[in-house]
Amino acid sequence: MKKHINIPVFIPHLGCPNNCVFCNQRFISGHGDFDPSTVRVEIEDALSTKTDDQTAEIAFFGGSFTGIDRDLMIELLSIADSYVKDGRVNGIRLSTRPDYISRDILDILARYPVNCIELGIQSMSDTVLSASKRGHTRDNSITAAALVKFYGFEFVSQMMIGLPGATAEDEIMTAETCCDMGADAARIYPTVVFKDSELCDMTACGEYMPLSLDEAVERTKNALYVFYKRGVPCIRVGLCAAENLSSEDTYYAGPNHPAIGELAENALYLDIIREKLAVNKDQIEDGSMVTVLVSKGCLSKAIGQKRKNKVTLEKEYHLRHLKFAECDTVSGYDVKIEIK
Ligand code: SF4
Repeated sequence: MKKHINIPVFIPHLGCPNNCVFCNQRFISGHGDFDPSTVRVEIEDALSTKTDDQTAEIAFFGGSFTGIDRDLMIELLSIADSYVKDGRVNGIRLSTRPDYISRDILDILARYPVNCIELGIQSMSDTVLSASKRGHTRDNSITAAALVKFYGFEFVSQMMIGLPGATAEDEIMTAETCCDMGADAARIYPTVVFKDSELCDMTACGEYMPLSLDEAVERTKNALYVFYKRGVPCIRVGLCAAENLSSEDTYYAGPNHPAIGELAENALYLDIIREKLAVNKDQIEDGSMVTVLVSKGCLSKAIGQKRKNKVTLEKEYHLRHLKFAECDTVSGYDVKIEIK
């Protein structure tokens, strides 16, 4: 199967009248000013490193694509369309807010080779949305997701962990509701505090307390587990390095670990292996040799960073030896246990 790449075109805050407390879109997108004439250059640059064994989509990320000036949106769609028509790109994806989805907008998008719409759901709790000054409601998200699915677009739900007022239960409910709304895939973003955002002021005065890295990993893992159980692939956890987060100019506080996704996956594996061992606990004696079989390519995630999962489980179950191995008949985060 061909590997897929996104060619990101960041559209910063254009036309966005909202002011979500966590947002400093200029920094998140990495572009302070946006010049549409540079879009072709960006795409050509990305295509110059694309290989024949890759498929590609042009991805309008960073802002609220369907909320920008209508003529500009159509200009950008037309540019992307020309690359699909000449066969160098396979389609378009975009991210936007739930309240910027309507039949009018979707009628326009449907005229272009748009495959996927990512909705910034962030939370399905109206209390959390309000505390985050998100400017839309849970009902807006339900309506938008239903419309996106009705038009036949792929729907990716984006949610956040650790928003103001959010509890771990809110986040599990949000992940469950995204699945109920028919999400085809998910992204999870632990909340990071950026300089020059309202959340930065709220943090400075003690009104908001960012999650610690451990808390963010635990709560991200909970959401990840929901998506896993419901068969919804999680295509990203945390902002990526290209999103310009490591700079002291942009980062203020919060769980901004470059491998936070992997840490959450490690934690998820620990839970899943514990569950399996608990089911088999009658067969496990002090000194037993246990092998955990995991899907291909997931060995290091299951063992954990610095072998944390292995060491923890050996101690908990007094195992003489705990081995991990890949297995063709195991998929996703499933595990099989062999006991000797
Ligand atoms: S996060 Fe909020 S304020 Fe920032 S661009 Fe998106 S909708 Fe606008």
